[in-house]
Amino acid sequence: AEEVLVRSEKMSVAGQLAAGIAHEIRNPLTSIKGFLQLLQAGVNRKEEYFKIMIDEIEKMEKITTELLFISKPLTDHKGREAISEMVYDIVSLLSPEAKLKNIDIIVDPSIHETIYCDKSQIKQVLINIVKNAIEAMDEAGQITIYIENTEYHTELCVCDEGPGVPEEIIHKLGEPFFTTKQNGTGLGIMITKRILEAHHGSLIIERNATKGSTFKLLFPK
Ligand code: ADP
Ligand code: MG
Repeated sequence: AEEVLVRSEKMSVAGQLAAGIAHEIRNPLTSIKGFLQLLQAGVNRKEEYFKIMIDEIEKMEKITTELLFISKPLTDHKGREAISEMVYDIVSLLSPEAKLKNIDIIVDPSIHETIYCDKSQIKQVLINIVKNAIEAMDEAGQITIYIENTEYHTELCVCDEGPGVPEEIIHKLGEPFFTTKQNGTGLGIMITKRILEAHHGSLIIERNATKGSTFKLLFPK
């Protein structure tokens, strides 16, 4: 498997974000304005236009919700936490969504490691990564969550059976608003990287030899 270390680009993030926000909010606004003008002119495809406008508004709603999370200072409530507890919490949260697609989330029962972290931040990271894994798979399959121990790191791994991240875009993951999804915000991995950096950790993305990808969350020992 080939490895790509997702580097932080702290200096440019604020600028990228501002440009991204302007773009991501202006497009839906322009579209909503256009449809309102059509409705004002008295067209008869009202239902269709209302639906499009609601979709656009929901997109802006999602983006602003995620941005609010980013703007929150990372207040620290760090302590030594059991990884398995955080993993089981988010798995029970996401299992219904996974079941709908016939995806099983399998957690290695031997996970016993602890990490020094803010529990709610790491749960947010896990939600982002496992949600992406579910969204990447359009057929039934498995997501496996396990630990790899190296000399300096505890690596929390999330392995999926989706198509894998295409080579050409792997370096773009984590750029604000970079998404390949119709309804994506492109903020999940950026938030993930930000939280991991606040834990002196990092994110590694691997393409699996067979199928799918593995997202590894590295924490110092
Ligand atoms: P979003 O999920 O809103 O698109 P993210 O920042 O969470 O934003 O992810 C950015 C992009 O990274 C996704 O649009 C997708 O192209 C890619 N990606 C993330 N996780 C996976 C995965 N498990 N398999 C394949 N591609 C992925
Ligand atoms: Mg996502």
